[in-house]
Amino acid sequence: MPETAPGPATAPHAGTADGTGLDAFVAGLPKAELHVHHVGSASPRIVAELAARHPGSKVPADPAALAEFFTFRDFAHFIEVYLSVVDLIRDAEDVRLLTFEVARDMARQNIRYAELTVTPYSSTRRGIPEQAFMEAIEDARKAAEAELGVQLRWCFDIPGEAGLASAEETAHLAVDLAPEGLVSFGLGGPEIGVPRPQFKPYFDRARAAGLHSVPHAGEATGPQTIWDALNVLGAERIGHGTSAPQDPRLLEHLAEHAVPLEVCPTSNIATRVVPSLEEHPIRAMVDAGVLVTVNSDDPPMFGTDLNTEYAVAARLLGLDRAGVAELAKNAVRASFLDSAGKARLSAEIDAYAAGFGTGHGGVPAARS
Ligand SMILES: [Zn+2]
Repeated sequence: MPETAPGPATAPHAGTADGTGLDAFVAGLPKAELHVHHVGSASPRIVAELAARHPGSKVPADPAALAEFFTFRDFAHFIEVYLSVVDLIRDAEDVRLLTFEVARDMARQNIRYAELTVTPYSSTRRGIPEQAFMEAIEDARKAAEAELGVQLRWCFDIPGEAGLASAEETAHLAVDLAPEGLVSFGLGGPEIGVPRPQFKPYFDRARAAGLHSVPHAGEATGPQTIWDALNVLGAERIGHGTSAPQDPRLLEHLAEHAVPLEVCPTSNIATRVVPSLEEHPIRAMVDAGVLVTVNSDDPPMFGTDLNTEYAVAARLLGLDRAGVAELAKNAVRASFLDSAGKARLSAEIDAYAAGFGTGHGGVPAARS
């Protein structure tokens, strides 16, 4: 593991040593999150609740042992944790519990709106009935909005490693069952050996049904994958896009066509697609005029949360409070909220920043 790899002991302090009170500002800032995975958001607290429903699972029941199990060690360990959580999601009630409790963790960070990436194929292939799955997430979505003030929307994503059968099933679930909260269609899993163009027919179907296209691309592979996502899959936003700065023409294209990037700094270090935070290309993206949003990906499993990612981005970009508020507004701009929803959340961010004595706007790339 690189020395700069994140862990719970260090990540929460990123960007906080300057005594500017930026952490407190970020904590209370109303935020939107656009790249965060459903199962990947299961915190130890949630996993303990799921494990209590299924005694005999391989996840430790003792809270201290569970916390230790969740401490990020390396990518292989992350996969082990992820799969052990997948194994705990066995019926529709597990799905409902996970979804609502993820929203509760979001509410604690003042996340007001999230497009949660859900991989329904993982559940339906394990025998959870399609309709019961949809009812569970929708029930949790409505409860989260009413009780927690968190608006959830869904991105159904194809687990690329599971092949075209999973793409077919995901497109069927997205188009034929079309839950009310569904706004977009995605593609995750490994990029190496899983070329994006083969998923074109499924994205075509989803887009024809009115869903937005938001594949992961350019996380573990080069800029060509991002071009494919744009040109073949009709990507309107790019999940990660970490390799985009390797191709200046691509950066220019993203800026010119206002295609936002969903940047997840700590995740990129954890999966080693970037050697250290200091070498993260987020600065080059911002300098090129690309609409950059900051996100947490699989937060508890990478020892992070969205507030920590904002602190990391503030440090890497040299942002003050106004710059951080602008970053939060970038996520609203890049979201699939309707225009009234965008205006409302942006106004909330402005009001909060003004209350903090930061009413003068600011630019996303504000130099320190
Ligand atoms: Zn992701």
